[in-house]
Amino acid sequence: MNISFSPEHEKFRDEVRTFLDESLTDDLRTAQRMCPGLFLDYEHNIAWHKILHRKGWVAPAWPKEYGGTGWDLMQRYIWSIETAEADAPDLAPMSLGMCGPMLIGCGSEAQKKELLPRILSGEDYYCQGYSEPGSGSDLASLKLKATSDGDDYILNGSKIWTSHAHYANRMFLLVRSDDSDKPQDGITFLLLDMDSPGIKVEPIVFASGTHEVNQVFFENVRVAKSNIVGKEHKGWTVAKYLLEFERGSGGTASRKIALRRLRSLAREIPWQGSNLSAEGDFAYKLDEVEVKLEAIQFTEFRIMAALSKGQNPGPESSIMKTLGADLGQYITELATEALGYYATVHQPEARTVGNNHTAIGPESGLATFSQYFNLRSSSIAGGSNEVQRNIMAKLVLGL
Ligand SMILES: Cc1cc2nc3c(=O)[nH]c(=O)nc-3n(C[C@H](O)[C@H](O)[C@H](O)COP(=O)(O)OP(=O)(O)OC[C@H]3O[C@@H](n4cnc5c(N)ncnc54)[C@H](O)[C@@H]3O)c2cc1C
Repeated sequence: MNISFSPEHEKFRDEVRTFLDESLTDDLRTAQRMCPGLFLDYEHNIAWHKILHRKGWVAPAWPKEYGGTGWDLMQRYIWSIETAEADAPDLAPMSLGMCGPMLIGCGSEAQKKELLPRILSGEDYYCQGYSEPGSGSDLASLKLKATSDGDDYILNGSKIWTSHAHYANRMFLLVRSDDSDKPQDGITFLLLDMDSPGIKVEPIVFASGTHEVNQVFFENVRVAKSNIVGKEHKGWTVAKYLLEFERGSGGTASRKIALRRLRSLAREIPWQGSNLSAEGDFAYKLDEVEVKLEAIQFTEFRIMAALSKGQNPGPESSIMKTLGADLGQYITELATEALGYYATVHQPEARTVGNNHTAIGPESGLATFSQYFNLRSSSIAGGSNEVQRNIMAKLVLGL
């Protein structure tokens, strides 16, 4: 695979750099650098989203006819690297990375026409209603009951671990519309407004103190059947299609930046007349991460190549998800090790944009311990590592 840049791509990279220099405020960069969890808060997310939308660059992975950029594989790679290098906010994936591609692949023409522009503009911000108490890995066992009532469904039950449900105005979700046959055959894929009467969002606060996920309760929530994506009772096919995008969306760019920050943190920590990055054992671990990252990068290229030919990400997305989650966690372990007792400093106020607090210990380590805790969930969220390995065993190894 040729991954060198042509003169046109060099020119494109310069254009991207100029745009990032001009558009990224210090506040946006700080918010991203200090982000303690998996997703950046809504305020900074949407601010960056709107800047990108004005430029026409908010959906690099979508086909041009639906509002994508029309960039080739290499341009998208350059974009992901340059934005991560510049500390640009990582946009939450639920709308642009999951719901949009799902609608493009499975939605009706009317749904695409109405809903895709609203995702692009940021008017609609989606959360994902898949998991339920008791139905996570075994998703097909989900129970949120959809009772048919003429042209509507009446929903009763609950979704859990719903990221950013407290910010979202829309949800895509799976409901149990029929339980007479095998579990996969009675599921319907729906879209709804989060301000529908009967929906209640309750926060779930992480051990780190951050609030990203929620439990969402449904009590007699009425949804018109015109909000079904695909066919009634056949939502499982749509659900699986979307999951490939969810799992393939990780990318190595953010981990490359995490490694660069880790190297720079290690250089700040004094060690026997030098600094920690020169200490043999630690230097070995840093290089180990670098090598693993290179390997994951090639899987990322394979996924991008498949997408650029109009194919789906395929089982490579499970490989990517598993290796990426493990490596992301390992980087936070090493950052915690590097900081030693400074890792345990709890100073969330010093992480906020525009604060005037003095950091206790290295400033670049202020979010480290929260990230260490919060990234434990990355090998569970979006399908656990064990479940991904089952998929690889079946689809890649044929076991
Ligand atoms: C931070 C975070 C954010 C999330 N955001 C969302 C969201 O926005 N929307 C949403 O719908 N869901 C979300 N989830 C839920 C996530 O998808 C589930 O947690 C995940 O699918 C695992 O399900 P579970 O928690 O029910 O665990 P379980 O399915 O009960 O699994 C428990 C353990 O058993 C193992 N296991 C289960 N089945 C198998 C098997 N067949 N073979 C081998 N091992 C197995 C698992 O690997 C795991 O270690 C989020 C979760 C987290 C932690």
